[in-house]
Amino acid sequence: MEKRRRRIGNREGNPEERTTGQRSCFRCGKELRPGGLFYLFQIKVISGFDEILMEPTGEIDQQLHQLLEQVQHCDPKELEREVYEEMTLIVCKGCRDRLVDDLRYSREGPFQIRKDPEPTLH
Ligand SMILES: [Zn+2]
Repeated sequence: MEKRRRRIGNREGNPEERTTGQRSCFRCGKELRPGGLFYLFQIKVISGFDEILMEPTGEIDQQLHQLLEQVQHCDPKELEREVYEEMTLIVCKGCRDRLVDDLRYSREGPFQIRKDPEPTLH
């Protein structure tokens, strides 16, 4: 007898187990059905460097002391996140389209409310 099973993933997983990992859209919260269409935004936020170092003012010892004080009072995880952060967002088709549009045309400025052109009076 020929086997006609074409399920991707864990073959031994029971149906209940498969539904526990329910997904919902990051943006609108809509539930994403198992096997349905969804999109991933993989975002990497890396601190930039323009190769310009600011000339320190004042005593170098004092500068170092201040810097050490700042670092000691910071959460290491927080410091790490300031340099590099990665996130994955799951979104539905509608939100994917809107997010891509927002990113592509972001120079127009966020959430601008269009006003009717003011009437010109002469
Ligand atoms: Zn959505």
